[in-house]
Amino acid sequence: MTDALVHDLRAIVGATHVLTDADMRATYETDWLQQWRGDTPCVVRPQSAGEVAAVLRAVAAAGVAVVPQGGNTGLVGGSVPRGGAVLLSLQRLNSLGAVDAAAQQVTAGAGVTIESLQHHARAAGLDFAVDWGARATATVGGAVSTNAGGSRVGRFGTMRAQVMGLQAVFADGSVVTQLAGLPKETAGPHLPSLLVGSEGTLAVVTAARLRLVPWYRCAAAALVACDSLPDSVDLLAQLRRLPSLDAVELLMPEALSVACDFLRIEPPLDPTSAAAFVLVDCAAHTDPSDELLVVLADRRGVLATGPQRDVLFRIRDHVTIAIGALGTPLKLDVAVPVGQLDPLVQRVHDAVASAARAIIFGHLAEGNLHVNILGAGTDAPAIRERVLTAAVELGGTISAEHGIGVAKVDWLERQLGDAAYAALRAIKVALDPGNLLNPGVLFPSEPRPSRVARV
Ligand SMILES: Cc1cc2nc3c(=O)[nH]c(=O)nc-3n(C[C@H](O)[C@H](O)[C@H](O)COP(=O)(O)OP(=O)(O)OC[C@H]3O[C@@H](n4cnc5c(N)ncnc54)[C@H](O)[C@@H]3O)c2cc1C
Repeated sequence: MTDALVHDLRAIVGATHVLTDADMRATYETDWLQQWRGDTPCVVRPQSAGEVAAVLRAVAAAGVAVVPQGGNTGLVGGSVPRGGAVLLSLQRLNSLGAVDAAAQQVTAGAGVTIESLQHHARAAGLDFAVDWGARATATVGGAVSTNAGGSRVGRFGTMRAQVMGLQAVFADGSVVTQLAGLPKETAGPHLPSLLVGSEGTLAVVTAARLRLVPWYRCAAAALVACDSLPDSVDLLAQLRRLPSLDAVELLMPEALSVACDFLRIEPPLDPTSAAAFVLVDCAAHTDPSDELLVVLADRRGVLATGPQRDVLFRIRDHVTIAIGALGTPLKLDVAVPVGQLDPLVQRVHDAVASAARAIIFGHLAEGNLHVNILGAGTDAPAIRERVLTAAVELGGTISAEHGIGVAKVDWLERQLGDAAYAALRAIKVALDPGNLLNPGVLFPSEPRPSRVARV
């Protein structure tokens, strides 16, 4: 990193948007949950696709890598700078176009937060479907690049299903703009789809054309006690019949307990009174409570609307944060076919040493478990190996929604198989021959940011 490059970057984005002071860089060098830490010689904050393109040309000429960063809420270390790379913050690309009601679409800059996008859509009577706890900070560009999921995937799909088009900048500074949002287009393979989930390794996303969905103003939720995981899967089968079904989340007793302790609230149901808890949400244009009550008639649970429903979702949204407050967990984000959830959880418990504490929750409708292990210590690599192996052997995936980042690079080839992995590597080499875009993410390349070890 040379003074000449800093000079060039300042000429592109303005001196105030090239941050070189350690104090100014600090928040960009550690992720939002403070689990990963790295360092960068400077943070660059462009405001337009043109500026992003000029920045990429400048760093390429200097042979310096870049790490794109949105809200920095990623959980696999992919947004944390390493190896002397320039940190490219996309937060200033925060323009929001007018909602196109006829197309049910909107164009959003990469730096727009998911929460701002939701508010913007709702002001026009529509909604943005992808939703999760970090919505106030996570950005459109980050969500596209990680193919974010969240709680409403069963109804509306992941981020991939919302992306109608993208604007993105390649490593050589060339800009591709496909923002027309055409629902039908067969002019070759769909480039925007290739970039979804590419974690900043193939291009920098600068804007997205996004699908909007109906805004359901009436909602009812329930927290239901289940005797076992297979019982929760039986409940899921019954819930699938409900036309208003919006989300089906799973909280194992420990997860319910730590979130309520963190929030200092009384748990809505005694965490020790069941083997698993299912949080169901229904949303429609008219009150869906009766629909939900029919399914819940023979079950023990609490039905909640209005502020009580908000409390249930506050609990759900705070599980990750509550676990983070207890220490730095070994975090695994896996998914299996729902019928395999019980064997997966059995194998997690078999893998975890008695001194460690496993806190499990996730998205039941998608068979997606977030496995958090506190106190794993030196057993962490062995536990990780056994849990990820179990996910694959049970027909699932080692990464359901958080991505590969730097945390799981050693597993991508095993997950995909030789041919698919080789194809992805070939695409990476073709689009970024100098390996300047987020090196070390998806594919191995040293050095990595360090995991913060607090427990
Ligand atoms: C409390 C909490 C709960 C969470 N729950 C969920 C959940 O339920 N579902 C879920 O899917 N995720 C969840 N996450 C993870 C995280 O919020 C998502 O991965 C999110 O999509 C990251 O968005 P971001 O803007 O913060 O991206 P960042 O963390 O900044 O970046 C993530 C990755 O995308 C790349 N990137 C970012 N912006 C761009 C861009 N414009 N162009 C190219 N590459 C880019 C980065 O280089 C990095 O590799 C949760 C996180 C937290 C802290």
